[in-house]
Amino acid sequence: MEFTNFDNEQSSQNIMATILKSLPKESGLTKIEYEGPSIALYSKNPRFLIENSQILSNMVNTIRKRVVIRTDESIRKSRNDSTRIIQNHLLPLKVKTTGIFFDDALGELTIYISNSFEMKNQIENNILLDLVTETGWKIKTRKSTVKLATIQFIDKVLDNSTDYRIKFYKEVGDKVFRTKLSNSCEASVLTLGGFGEIGRSCFLLVTKESKILLDCGINTHEEKALNYYPRFDMTGFTLEEIDAVIISHAHIDHTGFLPFLFKYGYRGPVYCTEPTLPLMTLLFLDYHKNHELYSEDDIKNVIIHSMPLSMGIVTDISPDVKLVLYNSGHILGSTSIHIHIGNGNHNLVYTGDLKFGKTNLLENASWNFPRVETLIIEGTFGSKDLPHKREETDPILIESINQTFRDGGRILIPVPIIGLSQELIYTLTKYQEDGSLDPSAEIFVDKSILEATYMHELYYDYLSKEVKTKILNENISIFNYKHLKLLNSKSKVDKPGIILVPSSMLIGGLSVKFLKQIHNDPLSKIIFISNQGTGTLGKEIQTGNTEVTINGQQLKLKCKIHAIHGFSNHSDYNQLLAYISRLKPKLKRVVINHGEKARVQNLASSVNKILNIQCQYLLVPEAIKLL
Ligand SMILES: [Zn+2]
Repeated sequence: MEFTNFDNEQSSQNIMATILKSLPKESGLTKIEYEGPSIALYSKNPRFLIENSQILSNMVNTIRKRVVIRTDESIRKSRNDSTRIIQNHLLPLKVKTTGIFFDDALGELTIYISNSFEMKNQIENNILLDLVTETGWKIKTRKSTVKLATIQFIDKVLDNSTDYRIKFYKEVGDKVFRTKLSNSCEASVLTLGGFGEIGRSCFLLVTKESKILLDCGINTHEEKALNYYPRFDMTGFTLEEIDAVIISHAHIDHTGFLPFLFKYGYRGPVYCTEPTLPLMTLLFLDYHKNHELYSEDDIKNVIIHSMPLSMGIVTDISPDVKLVLYNSGHILGSTSIHIHIGNGNHNLVYTGDLKFGKTNLLENASWNFPRVETLIIEGTFGSKDLPHKREETDPILIESINQTFRDGGRILIPVPIIGLSQELIYTLTKYQEDGSLDPSAEIFVDKSILEATYMHELYYDYLSKEVKTKILNENISIFNYKHLKLLNSKSKVDKPGIILVPSSMLIGGLSVKFLKQIHNDPLSKIIFISNQGTGTLGKEIQTGNTEVTINGQQLKLKCKIHAIHGFSNHSDYNQLLAYISRLKPKLKRVVINHGEKARVQNLASSVNKILNIQCQYLLVPEAIKLL
């Protein structure tokens, strides 16, 4: 249950009084408790509250706080009994499950369904309510054709932290809903990373009542610690003083510092979308395998303290800050962050990584914010130097691949684990289906990319309308798994095929291993489709250097090199300007972050000159006053 407007403050007593007054006796209310940024209503008769949802929406419109219905502990059946009840209902419908996860802290269970989507709809429409009544648990369903290691890891961590989480959710609620200490309002932004550079995206929003961190990344292609991590040495306060962390999306340059934050003592909430939690966990586990800079316990702490939020819902995260997440079109679950400060005093939008343009898998970024005065926007492609447009890209890519296949060569495409790799798998599948690309061509991926790909089906509701409809109506798999062949570090690819492996900038990992395998074959090709950071091996090769050194070994490249730029899931120069000019009401101030200095500088001057909006770029560390 949610509200979508901001409103005046209300005291906790008023809120509780309104709740008690609004709910009739039949609602079976047993207690009201804070649950992180929500107010949880425990009920012995959840069916009544679900069936009479109007009562709740009226109440929520009055109190203007997030409310969740929880089932009273006394009505929840045991795990065994609940599983039996669920199977008895699902078996006759031929619905197959790959598991059921019970979250005791929330009284909520998730049924992972493997086979039919029509069945899933049927479950939701007809028997979900019966299942809630008979089991006494709140019920969610998710599509999961296979058991995913990361999801199992997260579910186990959540299961082992039930008592701690119950306490933690209450403590967060107490802080969020406490009375304000001051009536006046102030806000400033302190840049800690990702301004005038790409990597370690991180800044701090300081208001009278709160300190909130937006993104928390590391710069994996920097060697010096001072450039690798966000500049926490500049903040002048301890990690315990931070009230919340908000994550825009899972990529390591926006999240990689989170486990370090917990290693050094942070114990507050992490807000992100539902898919971002497993996607970033996948990246942390992968990073942890190769760098022992933090422990698995630090990753577990990120999971325990994460509070996934839906998009478009107003959430109080401190006494003077409300948060709404909007789709940013960049990767699965990526968001632009809308921050409402005080009582309508200031609105800040931080875009995160932004795609203002449709891709094959995701919807265009949202741009319709109720209010925004300050915009912090990425400027990765803040200059007009991209030769290809997205619509020209597919034919260029397919022709490039076909050419290499005709020669009998292999293709290496270095990709990130999440985002471009799935966009590419989806695109290749599409062209294999229509015959433009050899239907028998094998696509080699590593374990992490395969798992991230499956996660796109688990959270299909975050994909574009078109893809979602395809999944729901045609009941098909959107990725052609039978053509995907799994690779590991010992694999050899000695026949034509497409190798999609991380890292995208050839910083390490399997892409460097397979580069060594194909580098002296003049028939084979490296295709770059993502932005190559300055100083990376990828950039060196892309700009034409054929003699490179990898781990002390000198290599002379004989393979072909092809860079296709239009594939990017970042907005190009024109899309960035179109996005900024689209926002209404007219912005008071624009700040460019996330981009090499020359590009953010160029974009800032374009916004000033072309759009006539006050625009600047910041570096690290710098501070500006918003209010
Ligand atoms: Zn990103």
